[in-house]
Amino acid sequence: MKNVIFIAPPAAGKGTISDYLVKNFDYVHLSTGDMLRNEVASGSLLGKEIDALISKGALVSDELIIKLVESKLKNELFGKLFILDGFPRTLPQAEKLDEMLISMGVTNNVVIYLDVTLEEATKRAVGRIVCPKCSRSYNVYYKEASPLVEGICDDCGVALEKRSDDTEETFKKRYQTYLDSTSPIINYYKQKGILESINVMRTQNEVAKDILSVINDENVSVKRRKSD
Ligand code: ADP
Repeated sequence: MKNVIFIAPPAAGKGTISDYLVKNFDYVHLSTGDMLRNEVASGSLLGKEIDALISKGALVSDELIIKLVESKLKNELFGKLFILDGFPRTLPQAEKLDEMLISMGVTNNVVIYLDVTLEEATKRAVGRIVCPKCSRSYNVYYKEASPLVEGICDDCGVALEKRSDDTEETFKKRYQTYLDSTSPIINYYKQKGILESINVMRTQNEVAKDILSVINDENVSVKRRKSD
């Protein structure tokens, strides 16, 4: 199977699809958003600086995020099948990622663009509640994405929380940041011929089917399925 690199507007569903891949296959998931939120939760000085940027819908610096991702890629993800969720988010990050993957000899990658309208992404962000322990996300607006017990994580039994940047106002800014900084990467990967586009405004089963078809190297998936 291929390593997955997600490119998507905010709240398109990268995290939910990543959870599905981790549960069913041998993927290791690296979410830069979760990584940064952990730093914020630690209360460190760096965490405070990151919090100020996230809360206003801006990106943290390329320099910082590249340093964090580089260390994870070269240590924890090396030799594993991985998902990059939230990186790259700018052209310099995409160029640096190419450099890192080449130097590590990692060539079996697919970049998946999640196609969603602004209206739908807004609903996904504003209705989102997340588990502070395992980061699983739910959505109060969709029955299939609601927890079994209102406000409680199905897996951890912990009270679900709202992310501070999931308000309508901050979401507008995050979306603008996406248009300005992240959407140019779509063309970058299109030109390299490794971009797959998936319409995520369908049921989770339909989306999963499309995801499987783009991550699969024939026959290998059957062997690597966790349930087998
Ligand atoms: P979502 O996909 O819902 O927008 P994420 O959890 O991926 O949210 O990211 C949350 C926030 O963390 C972003 O809005 C941004 O401020 C910061 N962030 C995450 N990844 C990066 C990155 N690669 N470069 C810069 N900032 C990032």
